[in-house]
Amino acid sequence: MAAPKVAVVGAGVIGLSTAQCIMETCPGCSITVLSDQFSPNTTSDVAAGMLIPHTCPGTPTHVQKQWFRETFTYLFAISNSAEASEAGVHLVSGWQVFKNTPKEELPFWSDVVLGFRPMSKAELQKFPQHRFGQAFMTLKCDCPSYLLWLEKRLKAAGVQMQTRKVADLWELHSKYNVVVNCAGIGAHQLVGDEKLFPIRGQVLKVHAPWVKNFIRDGDGLTYIYPGIHRVTLGGTREKDNWSLSPDPGATKDIFDRCCSLEPSLRGAQEIEVKVGLRPARQCVRLQREVLSQGGVKLQVVHNYGHGAGGFSVHRGTAKEAAHLVGECIAALQDSSSRAKL
Ligand code: FAD
Repeated sequence: MAAPKVAVVGAGVIGLSTAQCIMETCPGCSITVLSDQFSPNTTSDVAAGMLIPHTCPGTPTHVQKQWFRETFTYLFAISNSAEASEAGVHLVSGWQVFKNTPKEELPFWSDVVLGFRPMSKAELQKFPQHRFGQAFMTLKCDCPSYLLWLEKRLKAAGVQMQTRKVADLWELHSKYNVVVNCAGIGAHQLVGDEKLFPIRGQVLKVHAPWVKNFIRDGDGLTYIYPGIHRVTLGGTREKDNWSLSPDPGATKDIFDRCCSLEPSLRGAQEIEVKVGLRPARQCVRLQREVLSQGGVKLQVVHNYGHGAGGFSVHRGTAKEAAHLVGECIAALQDSSSRAKL
């Protein structure tokens, strides 16, 4: 069989990292990333890029933890290399604070992030409305920089990038042996997945270089995440809302909530409003499927539905998707050698 041709649909953090893992695990493949949008116009560009996982009810905790650990380990090595600034990956310390002590005092990811511990009474004095808190250090991606860094590495390794909207995965069958679906919320239309729904998120990106520590309130609706260039202030979570237009009422509400956690933000400048649709699902769809029409088959791998935590687990799910692509190629090679007998 000639070098297998793999198409990855989608150029958000999931598509690009999946293409990268395929490149690493199947070096003989020819890979093309097909996407109607590239950075800076994806949901992944809007994200804060913090590595704090969101619990996904349909995925076993040990699997979520494994995905998070693999992602953390991978990005930690980048943050500790000469690439860190170009890739936009850095360590950040801060606090997660609660008005009431949470039921689960030790989240499943507490031993993956660094230095996780309860906050001291003295630290809690910074947050007079909160009674309990956790301090730790985690990683953060400056999302557009990280996406461009991934794209650059892929192009340097010979991966093709094509701007194209795919209406149906089947339209790729004549040109590619394996198709990987990393279309994020676009998979709702692309493969008609009714279990996938948007959770609209609005954030503000502001200039406030004196803010150095992250602050996350309780379940994470309100947060302040300092990045390399800008601080991300969040947020909103609106289930089934497909609107990408900024809501001025939400902008004011987010800003006020963040200022009540960090009053110095009243002096923030250059407020930019961004909106994105989190691709939410009961669990990430990470599986093989064989499409078939008139006796012709197309090997497909799905990797979408990462909801509010795509950055936190992207490398772990990309590795698993690349493994599934390897299985598809082995199946194709097996049937091609049997056909020759
Ligand atoms: P996308 O980035 O949407 O990429 C999908 C790609 O598929 C795009 O390139 C699109 O153009 C392409 N596509 C879609 N349909 C088609 C088609 N038919 N044909 C061709 N191409 C197609 N996660 C974290 O871990 N930490 C955070 O701090 C964080 N903060 C967030 C804040 C906000 C406000 C939002 C909205 C999300 C946040 N997230 C965060 C979640 C994270 O952004 C997502 O989980 C992640 O970006 C999903 O990546 P993706 O590649 O699947 O989707």
